[in-house]
Amino acid sequence: MFPPFTLRYARLPERFYAHFEPVPVREPHLVAFNRPLAEALGFDLAAFDAEEAAVWFSGNVVPHGAEPLAQAYAGHQFGGFVPQLGDGRAVLLGEVTDRDGRLRDIQLKGAGRTPFSRGGDGRSPLGPVLREYLVSEAMHAMGIPSTRALAAVTTGERVMRGIPEPGAILTRVAASHIRVGTFQYFAARGDIDGVRELAGHVIERHYPALESRQDGERYLGLLEAVQARQAALIAKWMGVGFIHGVMNTDNTSISGETIDFGPCAFMEQYDPKMVFSSIDEGGRYAYSNQPWIAQWNLARLAETLLPLIDDDSDRAVERATELLQRFPEQYEQEWLAVMRAKLGLASEKPGDKALVETLLAAMHRGRADFTLTFRRLADVAESAAAEASLVELFERPEEIAGWLEEWRERLAQEEPGESERVQRMRLANPAFIPRNHRVQQALTAAMDENDYGPFETLLDIITHPFDDQPGREEYMRPAEPTERVFRTFC
Ligand code: AMP
Ligand code: MG
Ligand code: MG
Repeated sequence: MFPPFTLRYARLPERFYAHFEPVPVREPHLVAFNRPLAEALGFDLAAFDAEEAAVWFSGNVVPHGAEPLAQAYAGHQFGGFVPQLGDGRAVLLGEVTDRDGRLRDIQLKGAGRTPFSRGGDGRSPLGPVLREYLVSEAMHAMGIPSTRALAAVTTGERVMRGIPEPGAILTRVAASHIRVGTFQYFAARGDIDGVRELAGHVIERHYPALESRQDGERYLGLLEAVQARQAALIAKWMGVGFIHGVMNTDNTSISGETIDFGPCAFMEQYDPKMVFSSIDEGGRYAYSNQPWIAQWNLARLAETLLPLIDDDSDRAVERATELLQRFPEQYEQEWLAVMRAKLGLASEKPGDKALVETLLAAMHRGRADFTLTFRRLADVAESAAAEASLVELFERPEEIAGWLEEWRERLAQEEPGESERVQRMRLANPAFIPRNHRVQQALTAAMDENDYGPFETLLDIITHPFDDQPGREEYMRPAEPTERVFRTFC
């Protein structure tokens, strides 16, 4: 069933990981399987059997050619440095080469206590596994770089999270699971050779264009490349109202993918200070802080690379700082590109930033739903008759009326091509996101009634985020006050 493994991480020095076999579970049962992704990864599905698949995706049997391991990493958690974290419950089986020739990690998350588990049980409850499945697949469908969900199995065992909950394992696919924290792990030990070796692996795998660069330029180039991907990634998050929730350096991927869907959520009513995570008491990872946290995390990456950038440490700091200081400008360009597309603007004009900011301020004052505001703007671009449905999202009509005038004046400066614009806007403004109350309903039905119908329906809806889906309008609407989810948990 599995495609052949190409073992790359396992060939790195022993101190990069711990060999670790998944701990078998009592009664594995396949509850979700991503067939299109499996096909893209080169799985042989001709004789697919759910019972057999459950055995593989629980880790009860390790596929031929895999060399399971837990990766070592460190990280800043809420600003405080922890020199050793590592995969406490995840096991990398190895990498496979997908149909496009790209290397992809296959990891089982929730596979038992590893040498990095510290106090943890090495397991995952079903709820967070299904949440990660839904949200990561929604992100991918929206065109946002993300780890993917290949399979979910229940284990037939209970895990304690205050109360006993059903246990589960997620099979996660990523371009790699290397994090800013992976670099920090070696740097914190003064292991410059380790940092160099890791950087070499990352360059070969994710940034091969840098291979021809010499000496310090390679490593500065690496920082620059990761910075570019992070700027683009966070801009995309901001464009769909996504709040990651735990932007620790160990959750910041070097490949530029969204990784680790813990207490993440999409906001409904627009509020730049929005926080959902139950563990983010200070609001460090609030919506509007995300770009600046990404920059902070990049500075932590830069610190690990300094000795490789230049032998002269002052010179190394100077060059890295110069680069990091470009982040705000870079991010703003990415963000403006996202927001222009959302407003249906194909050209760039000096007033565009102010136009976006005025809209966001109106949405904030008017407590307008983030997703619906932009989606309905596409409807307004198609027909002025749709204006009422946009205005009704705001608490008072005057909050948006003036802005619509400005927007129309700005559209008048665009090249003609009305119908194409509406199309483009619909592809920049999802109709369907994984709304928190819907995710919660899907998780509750699965956990309490063993009913995966709501999960499957929701997955189908949010993996076609830009389509109008007649009959499914209910899934577009925000939570009623009684349905609202204020806190999310890892
Ligand atoms: P996270 O908050 O998901 O980014 O995880 C932070 C660290 O805690 C990582 O080293 C995880 O591997 C570890 N961890 C999270 N949950 C568990 C668990 N149930 N058992 C063992 N380690 C865990
Ligand atoms: Mg993590
Ligand atoms: Mg996590």
